[in-house]
Amino acid sequence: MVDIRTVGVIGAGQMGAGIAHVSALAGYDVLVNDVSVERVESALATINGNMARQIAKGAISDVDRKTALKRITPAKNLEALSSCDLVIEAAAESEPLKRQIFENLKPHLKPEAVVGSNTSSISITRLAAITGNPERFIGIHFMNPVPVMQLVELIRGIATNDETFEAAREFCGKLGKTVTVAEDFPAFIVNRILLPMINEAIYTLYEGVGSVDAIDTAMRLGANHPMGPLQLADFIGLDTCLSIMQVLYEGLADSKYRPCPLLVKYVEAGWVGKKVKRGFYDYRGEKPVPTR
Ligand code: NAD
Repeated sequence: MVDIRTVGVIGAGQMGAGIAHVSALAGYDVLVNDVSVERVESALATINGNMARQIAKGAISDVDRKTALKRITPAKNLEALSSCDLVIEAAAESEPLKRQIFENLKPHLKPEAVVGSNTSSISITRLAAITGNPERFIGIHFMNPVPVMQLVELIRGIATNDETFEAAREFCGKLGKTVTVAEDFPAFIVNRILLPMINEAIYTLYEGVGSVDAIDTAMRLGANHPMGPLQLADFIGLDTCLSIMQVLYEGLADSKYRPCPLLVKYVEAGWVGKKVKRGFYDYRGEKPVPTR
């Protein structure tokens, strides 16, 4: 059994920051890499703020926060991840980008290291094939926001061995998460179901059936969803939503998954949701204001 002590996280965006946060709180040493040290520093500030919120709710103590923050270290490059027992890739949802990262990471890893991808939709078997060690590769799909959401989907590639699967399962257990197992098909379970619903909500907006407010209110109060689908799309990131729809569309070759042109337009405008303060809502003021 792999003894996981040091965890590497590649990509310090919404998900990478969350994965570093929960791993450090669970007692792992964490090394975080992104395209620049500034991005990692900004992730550290986010983690600090999110932990402060957990303290306010009584979920953790200030000592927990200080101890956890000390466990997180920026990694300037992929070479700095050579001591990691587990590396989780959480860079943007682009297959060429992820392939490049795994290609560059390959020479620096210990042979027994486990590599996971937090991809929302891309084939684990295909990504595993370029790592040179597909037996030790697995999909570890966290939900957003990582510190709050209970679920992690584990996805085995065709070659993933039992030891890797058990190491990943034990790691998720130590983070206090519940694991579900999904087969390696486009977008796995959660996003296979969730993203077509979000895409349909965007079509509903595109066709003028309802406004942003009407659609979100309808689904919050009419279907008892905690968040409307357009608000949720902003929260996930419209770029990520579009990538997942493209993977479903291409991977399953079914026109029912075609991404809504309005989703494409928002992404082209750079209005990719909450992370840039604009998407289906404008978050620059005190209260989110619908943009349509
Ligand atoms: P994000 O845009 O917030 O962050 C992506 C990060 O990757 C950025 O900080 C970017 O600088 C970094 N990055 C880009 N190229 C890199 C490189 N070559 N090396 C290192 N870092 C690089 O995106 P996110 O929402 O955190 O999503 C990250 C991954 O997690 C994606 O695969 C996404 O599908 C998946 N995911 C997202 C959600 C969600 O709700 N947003 C949920 C589950 C899984």
